[in-house]
Amino acid sequence: MRTGGTMAEDAHIAALPGAQKRKVATPAAAAPPPPRKAARGYAVRLWSVRHARGLEWFYRRFAGAVLLLHPLWKALGYGRVEKPVRFVERQVKGFMFDCRMCGQCVLSSTGMSCPMNCPKQLRNGPCGGVRANGHCEVKPDMPCVWVKAWEGSRRMVQGDAILKVQKPVDRTLAGTSSWLRVTQEAADGRDTARRRDAT
Ligand code: SF4
Repeated sequence: MRTGGTMAEDAHIAALPGAQKRKVATPAAAAPPPPRKAARGYAVRLWSVRHARGLEWFYRRFAGAVLLLHPLWKALGYGRVEKPVRFVERQVKGFMFDCRMCGQCVLSSTGMSCPMNCPKQLRNGPCGGVRANGHCEVKPDMPCVWVKAWEGSRRMVQGDAILKVQKPVDRTLAGTSSWLRVTQEAADGRDTARRRDAT
């Protein structure tokens, strides 16, 4: 529940036992890094969060176009196109989101901020160590990916998807193409629905 402070403050407060829920200064919060220099290494990733709404719009159309090509992927074999598609996905998402190729992308549910960049790889919100300036407790120069995820989600049409609880990461999918997997699942779901409607 929001307490009226910033999200970083709320996350920190949420980590305290009920009786101690008050705003306190921590050693981490007392020593914030120089912000301008710090943010420079994350410029593109932060740009993506700032443009989450436009990227959401683009991704919906992109996913639709890739799904339209399902007959082609199927004819060629999903296994055979995995390698080149994975290469492109890695380059594009690596540049824009510092993607780690977890194989189960949740960017559209996390304000276009990749949760795998969290040093603790949390998939369902921040830990209790977010600094008062909104930075990570492990990497003081890095804005917390979950603070950014919340900001990005507030810009998106379907930003409330951030409230959905994510499953634990399936490590067996690491290094695979999320684009192809989502497409294949959508096509299978669509075919199953069509067969059901036809009977
Ligand atoms: S959630 Fe996974 S696939 Fe999506 S950008 Fe992050 S590491 Fe890459």
